[in-house]
Formats: sequence, C-alpha cells, structure tokens
Amino acid sequence: MSRTEISEFGEFGLIEHLTKNVELQNVSSVIGIGDDAAVIDHFGKQTVVTTDLLVEGVHFDLMYTPLKHLGYKSVVVNLSDVYAMNATPTQITMSIAASNRFSVEALDEFYEGVYSACEKYGVDLVGGDTAASQKGFIISVTALGEVNPEKIVRRSTAKKGDLICCSGDLGGAYIGLLFLEREKKIYLESPGVQPDLEGESYVIGKLLKPEARKDIIEFFEEQNIIPTSMMDISDGLSSELLHIAKASECGCVIYEEKIPVAEEARKAAFKFEIDPTACALSGGEDYELLFTLRQEDYDKVTLNEKISVIGYITEPEKGKTIITKGGNSHNITAQGWNAFKNKI
Ligand code: ADP
Ligand code: MG
Repeated sequence: MSRTEISEFGEFGLIEHLTKNVELQNVSSVIGIGDDAAVIDHFGKQTVVTTDLLVEGVHFDLMYTPLKHLGYKSVVVNLSDVYAMNATPTQITMSIAASNRFSVEALDEFYEGVYSACEKYGVDLVGGDTAASQKGFIISVTALGEVNPEKIVRRSTAKKGDLICCSGDLGGAYIGLLFLEREKKIYLESPGVQPDLEGESYVIGKLLKPEARKDIIEFFEEQNIIPTSMMDISDGLSSELLHIAKASECGCVIYEEKIPVAEEARKAAFKFEIDPTACALSGGEDYELLFTLRQEDYDKVTLNEKISVIGYITEPEKGKTIITKGGNSHNITAQGWNAFKNKI
C-alpha cells in the first residue's frame, strides 16, 4: 500500500482532501465546512451540545483498534450523549491531531469510519480542526442535536415508583476488551503467535463498533413516552445508576436476574472466570441507555424486546440496592458490589 506523508499535503491540502466529499443533509446545517464557523438553525427547537476527547494510549489502543472503527466509534459515543437527552443529533465537528507516524492513507481510513457513522445516523460534519501532534493521535468530537424543549430528559428527574429500564445488553464491551488485551499481551511476548479470537466476534464488536440507541429514542417518540430521567451507560450500570440516584435525590432497587447480558458475553465471561453480572455493573463502553419511566408506561415497553425493566426508584432512605439471584441484598457501589470487587 502506498504511503503519503501528511507534510506532502500541508494543513489546508489535508483538510480539503479529508472533507472534499461532504454534502450537507440537514436543513439545520446552514453553513458547513469552509468558512470561519458553521451556522446551525434549529428552527425553534433547543440545541443540545456535547463533546468528547479521545487520546491514544488512554482511550484507545491502535494495536487492536482499526482506524475505521475508531472513526466510527468516536462519532457514535458523542451521538449516544445526544440521544441520552432524548434529542436528535444533527451535526458534528471533528478535530484531530496526528503525529508523522500517521499517513494520509491512515487518516482516510479514520474518516471512512467517521462518514459511515454520519450517514447511518443522519448527521452532517460541519467543521473541525487539524493539527500536528508530537506523539500519538488525539480526537475531539463535538455533537449538536435538536429537541423540543418539553421533551428534554435530564438525569435529575426520576421519581419514587418509577421503573428503571435499560436498552440492549450490558457487559459485552468490557469482555471484548479483556480478549483484545489478552491477545495483545501474547503477541508482545511472542509475535509469531496468531491471535485466538475465534467465536468472540460479538463481544469484540461491542467494544470496537458500538452503536448509539437511535432506535430507542424513535420508539419513545412513536409510543409517546417521555422517560422521567435518562443517561447513557458509558461507565457501567452501577456508576450510572448512582448518578441518576444522586441527581434525582432518590434510592433504587435493581434485580440481578433482570440485568440483560447477551449469551455470547456470558459464555465469554466464564472463559475469564469472571461474573457476567460484574461486567455489566462495572465494565464500561456499552453505550446503552439507562432510563426511568412512569409505571403507566410499563405495558408499552414490554412490547419492545430491546428494553429490559431491571428495577424501580425508591425514596432516598432506602439506599441503592441490588438483589442477587440468590435473594441477597447488596449496596450498589461504583465498582459493582463488594463481592465482585476483586474479580474485575
Ligand atoms: P480556521 O483557520 O478558521 O481554524 P481551518 O483552516 O482550520 O480554519 O479550517 C477550514 C475549514 O475546515 C473550517 O470550516 C473547519 O471547520 C474545517 N475543518 C478543519 N479541520 C477539519 C477536520 N479535521 N475535519 C473536518 N473539518 C475540518
Ligand atoms: Mg483551524
């Protein structure tokens, strides 16, 4: 494969090269790439803004993360935050800093993933910034979205008696990470050995190519549901539940047996001799949605197999509790509950 040095293009040539095929698809994108700033008009709706910074070696490892997947994921994680406000993402900006270790072809691959996510989620790339870095790759994405003011869902508005729900399944991304880290270690010790990731494509896909839950927000809209609180699950279920409980000044009870864990993730966890529930509670990067609903909405969500009801909101004095499959109660802590603390 040919290698083009970034220096051959220069900053402006590189920006032109990376963004030449961008076509704006949202009416809200009034001015996109090419001027001093983008202009967005949400026509009476309110604007949601969120940003994330991803640093090589801290947030991602290029030894096992294909650049295309990285581009895709760096967009998706931001869109997930927009959906978590019950909003619709409309634009992103993408800023990158790359060292001379990266060729133009490598950045092309990264942008392939970026554009693929933009297309899938219907968002426009309307700007960014490009810089050199001394070492490594740094990515900053900002996402904008729109929402009717009366539909915004915060973390702080859960009420006693509300149902606690989550989308999809949890823990998979963390187990995927364990596999990739294990293979990396083996590779570094003996580079000739082929990676053994046979049969683990589900959990590895959960880590490397997560999706944001656009479908769940659309389901709420169709069913006329406004969750009483919501956030996305990026740090593990326990940590996010504690955030909602703190912000809403309430307690909660969840049931271990109700926490959704995919069969593939369960089997993979057993290979590492760790508890799949602990992965769901304390693993990160699932990018599912955690939300609370009024009890009247129960019948509507039972129709949707992608939503699990896992517990309910209580008064603050009741604390934050998980009831295990064996019927024991434990306090929920940010690391999962104590029995599993040393296992992950
Ligand atoms: P400025 O000098 O105003 O910062 P730049 O020359 O950096 O402008 O950028 C020119 C245009 O290209 C702007 O619209 C900017 O938002 C956009 N842009 C710059 N870098 C990127 C990038 N990596 N991805 C997408 N758009 C970019
Ligand atoms: Mg600039």
